[in-house]
Amino acid sequence: MLNEKVAKLINEQVNKEFYSAYLYLSFADYYEDEGLDGFANWYVIQAQEEMDHAMMMRRYLLDNGVSVKLDAIEKPNKVFKNIAEPLDAGFEHEQYVTSLINNIYSAAFDIKDFKTMQFLDWFIKEQTEEEKNAGDLVKKMKMFAVDTKTIYMLNSELAARVYTPSATGPAK
Ligand code: MG
Repeated sequence: MLNEKVAKLINEQVNKEFYSAYLYLSFADYYEDEGLDGFANWYVIQAQEEMDHAMMMRRYLLDNGVSVKLDAIEKPNKVFKNIAEPLDAGFEHEQYVTSLINNIYSAAFDIKDFKTMQFLDWFIKEQTEEEKNAGDLVKKMKMFAVDTKTIYMLNSELAARVYTPSATGPAK
């Protein structure tokens, strides 16, 4: 069993991970409209990863005897003025997600829930990578995307990203 507060926070995080997937899909849709298939590819894969995260948390709850409550997923309603904006929004969003994961960790820490702390270790590490990737994209866009030719090159780089299931294997 899990502590009620910790279980509630993880259950909320399941929803928030699915929201992240929705948000990144909306980025992908935007880039599709702009004709930037590489950027779209990057965010479709990002969305797949977020769904993995949600499924990993769902599994953790179930494995610990907690009934999962699926809530409505918020509608992503970002409107973008230029192709750099989703990247900035993505970086900001990942910093927010880090704060959410830290918050769950902190609740587990307070009650010495070592099992949950160990479970969350993967997510803590993952957030370092997510923030780095998102931050790097912002930097690359600032440095390299100065004209259509360099935007095309960046698009080609992002087209090469391949989906690999998250560390614990495919979502079950
Ligand atoms: Mg995530």
